Amino acid sequence: GEGEPDPVITAWITGFTERVRDAVDELTELDRRAGDGDFGVTMEAGLRDAPDASSALPAAAMFAALSRSFLENAGGTSGALFGAVFHRLADGLAGRDVDADTMADAVRGALEIVVRLGGAAPGDRTMVDALAPAADALHDARAETLAAALTAAADTAARGAQDTAGMTARRGRASYVGDAARDVVDPGALAVAWFFAAGADAAGR
Ligand code: ADP
Ligand code: MG
Ligand code: MG
Repeated sequence: GEGEPDPVITAWITGFTERVRDAVDELTELDRRAGDGDFGVTMEAGLRDAPDASSALPAAAMFAALSRSFLENAGGTSGALFGAVFHRLADGLAGRDVDADTMADAVRGALEIVVRLGGAAPGDRTMVDALAPAADALHDARAETLAAALTAAADTAARGAQDTAGMTARRGRASYVGDAARDVVDPGALAVAWFFAAGADAAGR
């Protein structure tokens, strides 16, 4: 029921948190080579009060708690954007079954908020380059199982993140270094790809 913890969402958030915490230095290094070098610190701070299995919250409340942790603890552009993403996912899950159709709507809404707040378009070398293909893949797979839909989202987000290595940044601090960023994957896009990979794993791909 709606008031009970959701094992998939709990495993999703726990898996994402572990993946990012294991890679704080890697994320910082990517942002240092093509930005201002604070992205790992931002993500670590954003996850400080991340919910976990002991939180025993239902699906929407898990994402709401994750959003709060980012908004209260993380600075930087990405702290606000990830906070907004997780807030929109919480809204999208509230009162609905956790299935591919629900996730497709919620992720589409999250993408729209990121674009509205940050003004980035696909190809600008931001998290949008992973989030937009993930939203499209979820939309196309909305009639499938959650595991299949999240697997498709994870695959396209990973490709989208990889493709940022050839892009010149037009948004965020990375835009100040121009072509120096060309061989480096955008760390925000990489974190989004890890987010969907954690979701696919949690859903049992
Ligand atoms: P800042 O660039 O302000 O130092 P962070 O280091 O916290 O921000 O986050 C950088 C990441 O945030 C980038 O890798 C990129 O994916 C994402 N990002 C930055 N600016 C934007 C934006 N305007 N729209 C979407 N994503 C953005
Ligand atoms: Mg930065
Ligand atoms: Mg910064």
